[in-house]
Amino acid sequence: MKGALSVRALKRHYTLRQRSGLFSSAKTLKAVDGLTFTVAPGEMFGIVGESGSGKSTTARLLLGHIPPTSGDVWFGGEPVGAVPNAHWRAMRKRMQMIYQDPLGALDPRIAVAGQIEEPLIIHNPEMTPADRKRRVAEVMAAVGLITHHGSRYPHELSGGQRQRVIIARALSMEPELLVCDEPVSALDVSVQAQVLNVFEDIRARTGFTGVFISHDLKVVRQVADRVAVMYLGCIVEMGIPEDILQSPAHPYTKALVSAVPQPGRPARSRIILTGDPPNPVNVPSGCPFHTRCPEARPACRSLKPELIAEGGRSVACHLVNNPSLVGGEAA
Ligand code: SF4
Repeated sequence: MKGALSVRALKRHYTLRQRSGLFSSAKTLKAVDGLTFTVAPGEMFGIVGESGSGKSTTARLLLGHIPPTSGDVWFGGEPVGAVPNAHWRAMRKRMQMIYQDPLGALDPRIAVAGQIEEPLIIHNPEMTPADRKRRVAEVMAAVGLITHHGSRYPHELSGGQRQRVIIARALSMEPELLVCDEPVSALDVSVQAQVLNVFEDIRARTGFTGVFISHDLKVVRQVADRVAVMYLGCIVEMGIPEDILQSPAHPYTKALVSAVPQPGRPARSRIILTGDPPNPVNVPSGCPFHTRCPEARPACRSLKPELIAEGGRSVACHLVNNPSLVGGEAA
């Protein structure tokens, strides 16, 4: 059975030192600020949010690439990043990541078949060269690359082909957990659809547990079984993508959903948020979204909402969970 991913009260804060004349002061950047969720074995969990919401830091925490400030991550019943070295290396093989920028993740001097084979040489020393070649051919076929692509260099391939190489390289390790950070955002829309189909096919065949991170709710909807919406390092809403798209509950999710083109919905119904997301060094008091929220009440400035689950949906908003607490007119 594939492993479940469990994330509990996960935080990653950075201390920033600032010097002014003789004095220095420290500020805290809260990149990730208290995430709790589980991903069932074989489930694909989407994370969506604007840039700066903490999505990529979350990806690195999930795989143990950086340590948390507090909280923990477990995969398959074992703590991620907190185990002795030999054990951790064995565990790392089961957890792979796909990055946003395939060109940056590939070595321009090595033909792509060699790059797909490389993790097998490092992590599976017991495999013979013939076994490795066979595995490389299998995963290239699985992502729709043909044999002669293997002798090409990254710059000789299209963006979609390069991203397939990255997927093939991750799949060559037969991962049980695959974390994908904006894997199709650099691709044309038509190529995005092809690559997403590759994901779906392979997930259906291998049943890996996945986390799919994107700024684009449309993309996440195509591949995820559940989705979490992040804002300033926190989850503000979590549920089934179709439900969230049909009836978003959190005011931030409403704005995100209003930007997704849907048949029959007039363009003027789009909700335009005013202002940029606040600096994560200066997270607003109370509800972190209150400075941009069209529905904010005066009390939202001081009371931080909890993420509360009800009927398969979790929302962090007073108006949804406890309207009598904030009452009154929009601020
Ligand atoms: Fe808006 Fe208040 Fe809800 Fe925050 S708690 S999302 S400010 S209504």
